[in-house]
Amino acid sequence: MSEIHAFEYPLASAKNHPDKTVIRLQNKTVTGDGSLCIAAGPCSVESYESLLAVALELKNIGVTLLRGGAYKPRSSPYSFQGLEKSGIDHLVRVKKQTDLALISEIMDLSQLADFDEVDIIQVGARNMQNFSLLKGLAKLQKPVLLKRGPGNTITEWLLSAEYLLNGGNHQVILCERGIRSFGTETRYTLDLAAVALAKELSHLPVWADPSHGTGVKTLVAPMAKSAVAAGADGLLIELHQSPQEALSDGAHALTPKEFRKLYLQLKKLESFKKEL
Ligand code: PEP
Ligand code: MN
Repeated sequence: MSEIHAFEYPLASAKNHPDKTVIRLQNKTVTGDGSLCIAAGPCSVESYESLLAVALELKNIGVTLLRGGAYKPRSSPYSFQGLEKSGIDHLVRVKKQTDLALISEIMDLSQLADFDEVDIIQVGARNMQNFSLLKGLAKLQKPVLLKRGPGNTITEWLLSAEYLLNGGNHQVILCERGIRSFGTETRYTLDLAAVALAKELSHLPVWADPSHGTGVKTLVAPMAKSAVAAGADGLLIELHQSPQEALSDGAHALTPKEFRKLYLQLKKLESFKKEL
């Protein structure tokens, strides 16, 4: 099986690349080196003030990577669509004040100029097979976090990574964020076997997103810890100072207090991860 895969995606395959890909950001955040990288922040950037407040909490907790969506791919056109360019401006202003690195989602290449100060560009689940977007991002020398589409196979996910690698961008992070299943009790089904298998098949860092992967606040902590046990190199976690007032994804947002507790538990698991 792995030989066929190595043939299909020669650049993403672990078979052809025994050394793991390690990605380092300017503020010394690292992923892929065996450590656990944790990115956290609101689903959407809602205002400069609320972003700064959450960023200061995160900095105090020990997080070095801030997430926040400015261009939001919403299922409904009537839902909050994000602050767009001004959302990115808020992120960059907060970065300058806190030295937190930034991860934010791009939806279209026309937005690229806004992402100069964004450290990791996220390709969301809905765009995993937007090949013109992937070809454009492949020309950058900047890390890209590639989420798995909820209806995509692991092979398709790695082939999308191959587009980035083949175009010359070697800083690719894979992120499992839940697939569509038959149950309605959770928003998606976080596929932790996919995390373990992607680690086996590829040299790229593999992350998990237990927030979108469950859509249920109480499941975020157990799934985050399970993802570490499955070998995840990083986690993407949503939080909000007042989840019931969030403009998007309040149902699975942790409060800073809940996040702090989880962060401390995850840090304990990090030493166990190094033995895996
Ligand atoms: C997000 O991370 O904000 C997001 C929209 O995620 P996904 O693409 O996994 O739905
Ligand atoms: Mn979200």
